[in-house]
Amino acid sequence: MDDTFMLYDLKVEVVATEKPMVCSHRVGDSFLVQGENLVFPADTSFSMYSLAALLPLLPAKQRELHPNDWMLSDTEIACPDPNCGARFKITRVGRRIQSHGQCTVVPLVREKEKDND
Ligand SMILES: [Zn+2]
Repeated sequence: MDDTFMLYDLKVEVVATEKPMVCSHRVGDSFLVQGENLVFPADTSFSMYSLAALLPLLPAKQRELHPNDWMLSDTEIACPDPNCGARFKITRVGRRIQSHGQCTVVPLVREKEKDND
């Protein structure tokens, strides 16, 4: 039985606005999201407060979304510091085939099987 599914790989990158940045962000600083992993380039730092604001959005951005879903169209996230002008641009940079069995020990249950319960 095929237990694969697709997730997008993401890139999260600091972009500037007309408003100055208050935090330690540097334009172009970035990290990748590959499956469950955050991958930071060497010599890159990233604000933990900004990361906390971004984390809830990343699993949704990894997945196929309805074409009308705002989660698909909105790609720039503001820094949680209201005085900081930084934005974080989330871009889909690739596709990754994942295996259900390699992500969890919970068995797959198909919809038909659930209906029979
Ligand atoms: Zn900031």
